Amino acid sequence: MTYPTQPIASHYINGRYVEDTAGDLIQVIYPATGQIIAQVHAATPAVIEQAIASGRAAQAAWAALSGTQRGRVLRRAADLMRAANHDLSVLETYDTGKPYQETSVVDATSGADALEYFGGLAASLTGEHIPLGEDWVYTRREPLGLCVGIGAWNYPTQIACWKGAPALACGNAMIFKPSEVTPLCALKVAEILTQAGLPDGLFNVVQGMGAVGQALVSDTRVAKVSLTGSVPTGRKVYAAAAQGLKHVTLELGGKSPLIIFDDADLENAVSGAILGNFYSSGQVCSNGTRVFVHKAIKDRFLARLTARLQGAVLGDPQDPATSFGPMVSARQLEIAEGYIAQGKAEGARLVCGGARLDRAGFFLPPTVFADVRDDMVIAREEIFGPVMAVLDFEDEAEVLARANDTEFGLAAGVFTRDLARAHRIAAGFEAGTCYINTYNDAPVEAPFGGVKASGLGRENSKAAIEHYSQVKSVYVRMGDLEAPF
Ligand code: NAD
Repeated sequence: MTYPTQPIASHYINGRYVEDTAGDLIQVIYPATGQIIAQVHAATPAVIEQAIASGRAAQAAWAALSGTQRGRVLRRAADLMRAANHDLSVLETYDTGKPYQETSVVDATSGADALEYFGGLAASLTGEHIPLGEDWVYTRREPLGLCVGIGAWNYPTQIACWKGAPALACGNAMIFKPSEVTPLCALKVAEILTQAGLPDGLFNVVQGMGAVGQALVSDTRVAKVSLTGSVPTGRKVYAAAAQGLKHVTLELGGKSPLIIFDDADLENAVSGAILGNFYSSGQVCSNGTRVFVHKAIKDRFLARLTARLQGAVLGDPQDPATSFGPMVSARQLEIAEGYIAQGKAEGARLVCGGARLDRAGFFLPPTVFADVRDDMVIAREEIFGPVMAVLDFEDEAEVLARANDTEFGLAAGVFTRDLARAHRIAAGFEAGTCYINTYNDAPVEAPFGGVKASGLGRENSKAAIEHYSQVKSVYVRMGDLEAPF
């Protein structure tokens, strides 16, 4: 059977599409209807071997180009991606179910931003000169070699670009394995890089489940792995990479706090809570899902929140008027439903939402629990769905301690008009990415990543360069060399 969204073949290796139907079948489901819209095959050992061999073969010549030459390719890819934004956004919506209203302004566009930013940075990557009297040391910033990127399903285009662009800017090759839930978009990123003039083999895409990721991470020819995924997968990838002492970047899950003080601009705070809980149907790693609201404004906050949630337009995600789409899969919907049942059983008060829609697809409306306590499961575990937990607080020191009382540390936000308090709280947060009077912005210019169980390393910004390159010191003696004998 053929589908309109069916890719030419499952994998993209060495500048062209590659198929091997011996690999396990992966069916791509459109989350808005539950219907199959494409099918691909997981990579077989032969496909993995092709991807590794072609990446390794292409990398040295790419690294030997000047940064300006490498950057030019990436910047051209950024332009091509922007020009194709509509089609890429439609595909992203099929792949993930996120509304076109979001994908048309966030996905290919942020991918293009990463390509443009790292394309611009490539020419400025240098070592340094370290004078030592007559002698001196110079450093060379060198690529790591063959890197592996492994993606989650919530931002398939963006994740491929956030990993691919800095890797390529630094002179590496990359093999990218998308999530098996959303295999379509990364293939388009690879096509665009080829059109932009990227030499064959430098950005390969292979499909598969965890086993394919595991095989890539374990291969001795792979120098680095960057994973976006859950904490349990992060632990497995970290352990496998440790066997080969490989470089690792881990962008993992979270249960981030969002603190709203009684002096906050209420409408802005409600906007922050909506953006931090219901964008992409709540399937965003950095979401501020523990919303601590000062007791003095709790009732007003809940009233405005529920009123504004009435304005969410649920429906066909390809319709530009739709502002809230389905969850990515039946499984993810069931996980969220399980947490909702648990929240009710633990005594949290359901304020709105809570039940799936009676229609095809995996629709769960925005769901808000109030009177949530810190020890409830819905306040401790990442749900990764449109489920907000509202908790009460009265005291600044107390709420900061409670905000930090979690194994995670991806993001955190505060809404207040008190300038000193805002910065005091930001300094006190145990999180890699913090927000003051806003939530979930992720511009490519700013480092993004987590602390504690939320991950290692940083994506975006100049910080990413540190994670895709290494420094070599070259000691130069100018005079004679003395030895003891
Ligand atoms: P997941 O951990 O199930 O899968 C992530 C990827 O890892 C998939 O491509 C999967 O095939 C692969 N994988 C699974 N087992 C593997 C193994 N043993 N070795 C190598 N690869 C393996 O996560 P998911 O369900 O796709 O995504 C949701 C999770 O991702 C959430 O926890 C979310 O918070 C997190 N996430 C984090 C960020 C971030 O930037 N911090 C962004 C998006 C999602």
